Amino acid sequence: MEKDEKKALRVCRKCLLYAEDREEFFRKLEAYIDNLSEEDRASQETYESRLKTCAQCPNLTDGMCVLCGCYVELRAALRARRCPDVARRW
Ligand code: SF4
Repeated sequence: MEKDEKKALRVCRKCLLYAEDREEFFRKLEAYIDNLSEEDRASQETYESRLKTCAQCPNLTDGMCVLCGCYVELRAALRARRCPDVARRW
């Protein structure tokens, strides 16, 4: 391998752009949850209980419920939302 070729391989090709977008997405999601009105927001106790259930559920994949496609942290934060499973888990 030529010296110039080796040098070129050390240049960041932004192959983690997807991950950076993802981080930004999750920051926005967190901010959205933080800014929910009291009227729309589930109580902290309910929120934590729901997430505890989701964390043990086989339908949870990468923070997302495979049944509804929601990020469970958002779904659980919304008072009016329910678990989408046929036999609701919360
Ligand atoms: S099925 Fe219900 S408990 Fe399971 S991940 Fe989805 S929302 Fe959470």
